[in-house]
Amino acid sequence: MTRRRSAYRSLRSLQRDNRACRACLEGGHPLESLPVFEGREGQRAYMFGQAPGVVEGEERRPWRGRAGQTLRRWLGLGEDEFYATFYCASVTRCYPGRVPGGRGDRLPTPEEQALCAFWREWELRLLRPSLIVPVGGLAARRLLGIHRLHECVGQRLAWHGAAVVPLPHPSGASGWLNARANRELLERAAHLVRSELAGLDGE
Ligand code: SF4
Repeated sequence: MTRRRSAYRSLRSLQRDNRACRACLEGGHPLESLPVFEGREGQRAYMFGQAPGVVEGEERRPWRGRAGQTLRRWLGLGEDEFYATFYCASVTRCYPGRVPGGRGDRLPTPEEQALCAFWREWELRLLRPSLIVPVGGLAARRLLGIHRLHECVGQRLAWHGAAVVPLPHPSGASGWLNARANRELLERAAHLVRSELAGLDGE
């Protein structure tokens, strides 16, 4: 049974309730994993993805599949450094399963996205990261209200005092990176993320 308090004082208690969350199932949405996220108190960079895939759902760890490998390559980070650097969460945190009768994973419905926003809002309130990296169009839309990737990838934006540097989704499913101009935006964005991380190290 999902438990949501009216307020949280620590990330640990928030994470404990989030790990047991079944709100979408209770709302009638099919899910194929338990919640997936990873992070700890004191991390100053927040990676905000779309939703876990099948591999992440099985391992209960974010960014374990090929998309995660690509993301780390873009940022020039090894696995240990990546997980030590970023608190990793996503718009929805349970593997949504495949599109019925179609290709790829199901996009979480607006109701699922709204249900899961509770966890993100409390995480950001408690963690207060200096850098937020939304990954993919849905994450940029949910955090910033920006609907088109080329309007934000390659830019350093701000959100409640944190720097925000959006990236495209590394799965390549959208084809956004097929355009050369967009690949240049990605290069700029990856450079910005690395600069922001270097700035955090130097503080
Ligand atoms: S996707 Fe989010 S709100 Fe839905 S059951 Fe999983 S953790 Fe809970």
